[in-house]
Amino acid sequence: MIVVMKNGAAERDICHVVDLIKEFGLKEHIIVGTNRTVIACLGDKRNVDKGAIESAPNVEKIVPILAPYKIASREVKKEPTQIKIGPGGFPLGGKKIGVIAGPCAVESEKQLLETAEKVAAAGCIGIRAGAFKPRTSPYSFQGLGVEGLKILAKARKLTGLAIVTEVVAVEQIPAVCEYADVLQVGARNMQHYPLLEALGKATKPVLLKRGPSSYLDEFLLAAEYIINAGNSQVILCERGIRTFEEYVRNTLALAIVPELKDKTHLPVVVDPSHGTGHAHLVPAMCRAAIAAGADGLLLECHLAPEHAMSDGAQSITPDVLAGLMPQLKAIAQAVDRDA
Ligand code: PEP
Ligand code: MN
Repeated sequence: MIVVMKNGAAERDICHVVDLIKEFGLKEHIIVGTNRTVIACLGDKRNVDKGAIESAPNVEKIVPILAPYKIASREVKKEPTQIKIGPGGFPLGGKKIGVIAGPCAVESEKQLLETAEKVAAAGCIGIRAGAFKPRTSPYSFQGLGVEGLKILAKARKLTGLAIVTEVVAVEQIPAVCEYADVLQVGARNMQHYPLLEALGKATKPVLLKRGPSSYLDEFLLAAEYIINAGNSQVILCERGIRTFEEYVRNTLALAIVPELKDKTHLPVVVDPSHGTGHAHLVPAMCRAAIAAGADGLLLECHLAPEHAMSDGAQSITPDVLAGLMPQLKAIAQAVDRDA
């Protein structure tokens, strides 16, 4: 449930309500809105005396939260959450859409720095590249590890781009936090609850990819794990789901974008690279994602896709990216956004 405070409620009124809900064994999550403060009460509500809370000074009303996810829900927070990304503090979830592009993996310093310059020149806000790679086969390239993170940090220094990179395991979190701006949770790890809880203690934004077979509610409950553990900076990423269709690597379920925008205040980005598996399909799905209301894109871009160590078939070239960006801006403007 949510306790909605009256407009102008004082700090002591809010503290009083927090004390009360703690007495009933609940945990509070305070959201300070532009007009009023609301307090989400989390936990088992069977023994809560709602009347006692409702009659506390400057409480306007108590509203039940119907969704299974609570703090991630629009019912708790109406205004969209903006998450500041990287050295430039780009507000993802605001009016402007943000494009993050880069190779699937950091392969070498030369490759990454050259790509970063092209990605920055195209007008992207961040570069993506995995240093720790979750590969289907244990024999495939697993990433450069901490060496890759150091290369990513050099790319940020050179270009000012935000660094988005994956954290595959709990023990990698301190190292990834040291070098990256946004910590990516891969699709395979969406329901790795100890990882999600550990990321709740991190101070960097988390980009959470949707599991290939997960429902919207499961996706938002995974986000809830991170927020409930203390980190409210969660960006949702649709990257395609597994269906019976075979001409694509995954089926990019774009209808989830407007549905998520309706159900949650968190920013939503789309990854059309893993969402299709084919570079020639990526530009059209980027355009469609922005038209559908996405706050940004995460896409794979490689200097020489045919020589990529992973996911070359779905990587667009820097030239294709540069040609795509003005189109995305035009589409963003057509749907009341900008780029
Ligand atoms: C990636 O972004 O390179 C990646 C491994 O993505 P996903 O977790 O969506 O498969
Ligand atoms: Mn990839």
